[in-house]
Amino acid sequence: MSKSLLQEAALNLKKAVPLMLKHQIPTTPTNYALWYAYVGEQNEELNKELDTVVDQFNTCPSSRTQLLYRQYVADPVELDVREMRHNLDAMVTELSQSLKDTNCDATKFQTNIDANFNKLSRIEDEGFNLEQVIELVRSLVQESDNIRSSTQFFTGQLQKYESEISNLKQRLEKSERDILYDALTGVLNRRAYDEDMATIMTQAPQGTCLILIDIDHFKAFNDNYGHQLGDQVLKAVAKRVNESCRDGAKLYRYGGEEFAVIVPKSKLRIARQLAEAMRRSIEKLSLKDRRKGARIDSITASFGVAEWQTDQSQLQLTDAADKLLYEAKRLGRNRVMPIAN
Ligand code: GH3
Ligand code: MG
Ligand code: MG
Repeated sequence: MSKSLLQEAALNLKKAVPLMLKHQIPTTPTNYALWYAYVGEQNEELNKELDTVVDQFNTCPSSRTQLLYRQYVADPVELDVREMRHNLDAMVTELSQSLKDTNCDATKFQTNIDANFNKLSRIEDEGFNLEQVIELVRSLVQESDNIRSSTQFFTGQLQKYESEISNLKQRLEKSERDILYDALTGVLNRRAYDEDMATIMTQAPQGTCLILIDIDHFKAFNDNYGHQLGDQVLKAVAKRVNESCRDGAKLYRYGGEEFAVIVPKSKLRIARQLAEAMRRSIEKLSLKDRRKGARIDSITASFGVAEWQTDQSQLQLTDAADKLLYEAKRLGRNRVMPIAN
């Protein structure tokens, strides 16, 4: 500031202060600035308006001071920035609340907000440029709109998909069971048997043993006690045999009252022992017929056990086990073939 300007400022202040005292104007920075402008006769309009107010009130009420200050003294761009900054603050508060509500990850949005505020600070430091500030506000508003609608959409979709997904998962699990498991006994079914056998045959058939099981005189249970009791026998046999399965052996319901057990990486002797354990455990079964009150403890089964031979097909292996099962039936049932040596 040059000396003459400083002198002028001092002169204006000397004029302003007595006037403020005369009109009982509080000595606040805004009031000083307003009366400084008045005595400096910077703006004719301001002087006219202030004269009118003082004539009317014998002082200048603070509400009028604020209005006049904003209108004539303060830098309009500075006021705009302040207003916008205030709006931005309000917007950030509102947005962070909405983000909390939607439980959305706010990291990306926060980064954008921070970047925009950094730009705003730079603009404040380097001088106000209204266009730049408006551009920033636009970008923030756009950003906020995007994030708000995207989080709302995302949350809505998430909730919708969550129930849809769990619904689908349940249906899928059920149909998976329906496809590969037997509804009555709960063990794997013939389809699973064919698929697993085909896989084993193409990958590593060496050491695969097959046990075929057929319940003895099963038809008699149906005939004497009814189909429901027959079903109970099937379930009980499946449960017992399944409990005996070890070392990767898997039980399948092969047909009506026929079961198959695939024993991987084994030897005929071991598979035969497993079949023998199964036979004994079935023999011990005892069921109660609810309708007649009779005890059924004559449940037995016959077994045919075969080990895969080089170049044998799935069908040939099954045939070999089936022939031995037939042999067990012919020799009197409730036995495992071949006979142990
Ligand atoms: P064997 O000792 O020679 O095997 O005599 P079996 O009576 O067991 O043999 P057969 O093949 O003559 O009879 C099998 C019966 O199993 C015929 C069929 O009605 C019955 N069966 C097949 N599936 C089911 C089922 O899911 N539930 C019931 N309760 N019976 C079934
Ligand atoms: Mg049969
Ligand atoms: Mg049978």
